[in-house]
Order: sequence, then structure tokens, then C-alpha cells
Amino acid sequence: MVSNCKKEAGVGQRIPEGEVPEEVRLVNEFLNTLDLERFGEHAEKPEAEREELRSPERLGDWLVARGLLGRGEMVGARDLELALKVRDALRVAASANSVLARGGPAGVSFEEVPLVVRLGGDSKPELVCTEGGVKGALGSILADVAVAASKGTWARMKICAAEDCRWAYYDHSKSRTGRWCAMETCGNRHKTRRYRQKRRISTAKEVRPGGTILATPGDDILSC
Ligand SMILES: [Zn+2]
Repeated sequence: MVSNCKKEAGVGQRIPEGEVPEEVRLVNEFLNTLDLERFGEHAEKPEAEREELRSPERLGDWLVARGLLGRGEMVGARDLELALKVRDALRVAASANSVLARGGPAGVSFEEVPLVVRLGGDSKPELVCTEGGVKGALGSILADVAVAASKGTWARMKICAAEDCRWAYYDHSKSRTGRWCAMETCGNRHKTRRYRQKRRISTAKEVRPGGTILATPGDDILSC
């Protein structure tokens, strides 16, 4: 759900503690550093602002705000390139978690971000990145994804099925078959569109009983 998410100037959306399982909280925020929502308040958003990580500085601010990077640590163009590569691959993977989506970024690996298993103080195994800086920060996010996959919560990280939304969200539904970031927005918009489409088809059939009705995947009805 996105209703309680807060946006802080310059560092993007923050999900309140407890709203999603802890191992997917940062990942969820990371996935939404790309804003493709094109309705409501987001409709008029300038294209240039849809990418939260649009410069090394912005990437640095985002990571520092989450305690993943020390203030003043260097962030370069290659770091940004790697961050976008990881984020975009994870967005494709989250899309594949959606019921209707197919495929995913099979075979993609991130050699630049080496993760190793370490036994912590309590002898609990944990995945840690052997690199520091931005690579280490991205390693933390990827380690969270691995933990989420082992706990079964990664399968609930999805991308909204609405083409004009594509918001990353955690599917809280019992059935695990949620398709929309929020039923009250994208779910209802989909229902309304389907209802209108059906009405148009039935109306067209009534008006031209002898014609052939062709319905496009969108709302347009063509008759001949
Ligand atoms: Zn949505």
C-alpha cells in the first residue's frame, strides 16, 4: 500500500517501520526511485524529476539518508550506473512476481557487488558485502533481497499492473494474487475501464446488429 508513504525532499519515499516486512522496506523504497505514475498528483510531474537517482549526488543523498553510506563518501558516475543497473533488474524481477507477468532478468548477476556468508556474533549466518562505499550499500540491498527470498516475502514485492502506475508495492493480500498497488486507486480505475469497455461493446452491438464488432485491447471500438 502506498497510502502512508512519506516523501522527503531530495531523498525520496520513506516507508514507515512495520508497514512492510523489514527485509523488503529498503528494497521497496529503492524500487520506487523511478516514478512512472502518470495520473493524479503525479500526472504533471516533469520527466526529469521522475528519476530520483538522476546524478551521483542524488544517489549519495539517498543512500546517506538510509544509513547505507557515510556522509562525504565518494559517489561517481560508475557507481550511479551500477545502482541503476541493480535497481532496474530488481524492478523487472518484481514485475515477474506479479500474477500476470512472465519472465524476469534470468541470469543477471552483479559481480561488482561480492556477497559472502559471515557468522555473526550470535553465530547466525548473514550475507555481507566485502566492498565498501556505494558497492557495499548496493550489497546490503541485494542481501536483503536474498533474505526476503528465503523468508518468502520477496515473492510479494510486485510492480503495479497498471501501465500508467508501475509503483512497487508489497502485496499484503491473503491470496498473494494482488495486482494493484492500491485497490482504491489502480484497482478501481481498472474496474471502471473494464465496465465502460463492456458497455461500449454491448451498445455498439445494439446500434449495429448486422455489423461485426472489433474491440481493441484499449477502449476503442471499431465496427465494419
Ligand atoms: Zn498502481
